[in-house]
Amino acid sequence: MVSMETLVSLCKRRGFVFQSSEIYGGIGSSWDYGPLGVELRNKIKRVWWRDFVQRRPDMLGLDASILMHPTVWKASGHVDNFTDPMVDCRECRHRFRVDQLAETPWVHYCPATKGNKFTIPAGEACSHCGAARTLCPDCGKGELTPPRQFNLMFKTLMGPVEEDAAVTYLRPETAQGIFVNFDNVLQSMRRKLPFGIGQIGKAFRNEITPGNFIFRTREFEQMEIEYFVNPHETVEGRPADEYWHDRWIEDCLAWFRRYGIQSDNLRLHEHARDELAHYAKRTADVQYRFPIGWSELMGIANRTDFDLKQHAKFSGKALTYFDEERKEHVVPYVIEPSAGVDRALLAFLADAYREEEVRGEKRVVLRFHPELAPVSVAVLPLLKKRDDIVRTAHAIRDELSRDLTVVYDDTAAIGRLYRRQDEVGTPYCVTVDVQTVGDSDKGEPADGKVTIRDRDSMEQIRVEAARLAQVIGDLLRGTAWAEVAAGAGRS
Ligand code: ATP
Repeated sequence: MVSMETLVSLCKRRGFVFQSSEIYGGIGSSWDYGPLGVELRNKIKRVWWRDFVQRRPDMLGLDASILMHPTVWKASGHVDNFTDPMVDCRECRHRFRVDQLAETPWVHYCPATKGNKFTIPAGEACSHCGAARTLCPDCGKGELTPPRQFNLMFKTLMGPVEEDAAVTYLRPETAQGIFVNFDNVLQSMRRKLPFGIGQIGKAFRNEITPGNFIFRTREFEQMEIEYFVNPHETVEGRPADEYWHDRWIEDCLAWFRRYGIQSDNLRLHEHARDELAHYAKRTADVQYRFPIGWSELMGIANRTDFDLKQHAKFSGKALTYFDEERKEHVVPYVIEPSAGVDRALLAFLADAYREEEVRGEKRVVLRFHPELAPVSVAVLPLLKKRDDIVRTAHAIRDELSRDLTVVYDDTAAIGRLYRRQDEVGTPYCVTVDVQTVGDSDKGEPADGKVTIRDRDSMEQIRVEAARLAQVIGDLLRGTAWAEVAAGAGRS
């Protein structure tokens, strides 16, 4: 598995992710997505939306505002419950989440070895003196304060005059925007249960211990679904909510696999009773084997009827569904698949990373799924001093860029250009050469063909330039390289 340092450095060097406000020394836990990062991010969001909203007849979309009525957060329980217990070191002032202390390696000045300093793996005792950690894991000297509850919501003021302004919050999850619009969507779109609402948007949490690059930040983006089911119905002999919970778990796992995440790097973690959120009947996390170890990639919770009931109670508006068959009003149960865009991006990046040896040389390649790759096609002229070659290459770039992310590059020799594209995961390179445009001096006619090079196999085929858009389109839509190659001449 690739290390986090390698990924962070690749991301910076190749324009995926930069430290926010870097020229001012940076700001903790905020990251900016560069030219390639924003393409990757947009593509993740686009395929998620296509697969989970656009293509499903039982799904609809929504884009709710970040700032909401403050009572939303009282009703949802976030004002009272969205807290993490934290402790502070009295010496170095570092702050820790209590629930993460056992997972943190700790510094120890061991009395059995004249006070030598050791860093002991998380959860282990000192092998010399047998002591377990009691002091600050970072400095190894300071006592920790008793735990205090820390609310993770960012507070802000709405209104022009500070004294009169209403306190509200930056939303810590996109879910509540969906719940408060449940009836609007139901009425305007005339839906029958079960149906779901999907939303992609920013969320903010004043995390006590952000870090590990884009894994845990204070500003991040979520792709969330609230799937409403009738709790009085059964499907295949099981309560509808339980049936749909399992279906969503399968669909989410299948989605990550479909876009290239290796099965071995995915697993399910069922929340134990004491881990469950106050509203949840059952929660399963999809975990990914990140460079920092197995960690949550997304959560899939059965939130029961908790949220709709709470909002009905606090707003005084009924949030129910009329069950025609049973002639009764029901409060739907909700299954919530909730994924972080940034964590998904980190997982796709880590999973795609390979170092390979090609003819005695190291090549770094990001084996992104073609639909996720930030650049779909690179157009490379083989001879940049030939005007007709350069002109043809620009014309190809221009045509393909109507539907795809395409780059043109002529700033190095071809081998170097290929390596550059491999390193950012470009699935196909197209080269224009003398044969394409012909050589009138030598009396060689143009064959009008260009070469397509496949990133993974490094094989090349020649196709008519006029058919290029079609062939690339087929490849991106999933036609196997071997099949396309069989229909074209290998070069
Ligand atoms: P964690 O236990 O890692 O703090 P969580 O269980 O609080 O996460 P949820 O509330 O279930 O997270 O949020 C759903 C998803 O949103 C997570 O699975 C993750 O992908 C993403 N997410 C949550 N918090 C953050 C964060 N601080 N930075 C980046 N992504 C996040």
